[in-house]
Amino acid sequence: MINEIGFVGLGSMGQPMVLNLLKAGYKVKVFNRTPEKTNEVVLAGAEKVERLSDVASPGGIVITMVSNDQALEEVVMGPNGFGEKLGEGGIHLSMSTVSPDTSRKLAAYHKKYNGLYVASPVFGRPAAAAAQQLTILTSGVKEAKERVKPVQEALSQRIFDIGEEPGNANVLKLGGNFMIMAAMEAMAETFNLAEKNGIDRKLAAQVYGSSIFDCTIYNGYGQMIAKKEFEPAGFQLSLGLKDCNLVLNEANATKTPMPLANLLHNRLLASAAKEREHQDWAALTRISMEEAGLE
Ligand code: NAP
Repeated sequence: MINEIGFVGLGSMGQPMVLNLLKAGYKVKVFNRTPEKTNEVVLAGAEKVERLSDVASPGGIVITMVSNDQALEEVVMGPNGFGEKLGEGGIHLSMSTVSPDTSRKLAAYHKKYNGLYVASPVFGRPAAAAAQQLTILTSGVKEAKERVKPVQEALSQRIFDIGEEPGNANVLKLGGNFMIMAAMEAMAETFNLAEKNGIDRKLAAQVYGSSIFDCTIYNGYGQMIAKKEFEPAGFQLSLGLKDCNLVLNEANATKTPMPLANLLHNRLLASAAKEREHQDWAALTRISMEEAGLE
């Protein structure tokens, strides 16, 4: 049974996740590159470690929730990385949104030390993380998934098992993020059409969100796009651009035409060029508003 967990990455998602682990009774050792971000979780009972590798105990479990593929590789395999120390029987529960290839590479790396890798990317923004309402997609070796299940349950409302191939949870996570971006673009174009006909954008959002598109994504992002409010960012546009690049890489690698992903990539790039990387990724819809002469 797991009762102690190491956690790396105390950003917008990591902090509420650690608070939930503490609430569930786990002892949590935390490390963050910028040490001040550990203050809140330390107050709630987490133990801060000075050296990254000290989050791991041999044969234990470490959760990572860092920004991107490069950061993830660094914290596992870089100087002072925790991978080697986690060692035999240790499990790395990797919850960032990264490429399927990075998951496969890290699974092979941990295997060298007889350790195990479980990919567990999530759907849900920081507020959902705080409310223990994340949805987890999980892939990896069966016994490892069974061992981490209680930990995943302390963080989420639902867990989907995507099989043993370590990258497959990441494939479905990236697909989901692609569909969110496509929904945001579709809503923006539709609300623009409404506004140009003198119809309140918020009314349009209400009509769709309470009838034919009554779901989390249309209701949550629909409000932001209708009100044109993109700050504070729950999920930064820079991270959305990272994910869209990962989608296109995967599309290339598997010869899967995704013309819509190319359009969304251009929207995100144009937004980055306009220095909107720190706004919420829903701000990608500002480009279509500008094209329609509405901003
Ligand atoms: P965030 O607030 O930007 O936090 C990123 C974390 O990664 C910080 O702790 C940061 O440390 C750390 N980090 C970045 N580069 C690093 C490096 N080279 N070495 C060590 N640590 C590094 O991001 P977030 O919103 O929490 O997202 C984290 C992951 O969850 C991402 O993969 C994101 O795509 C995914 N995700 C996010 C959401 C969301 O709504 N926010 C939803 C689902 C999934 P510093 O504090 O030192 O910068």
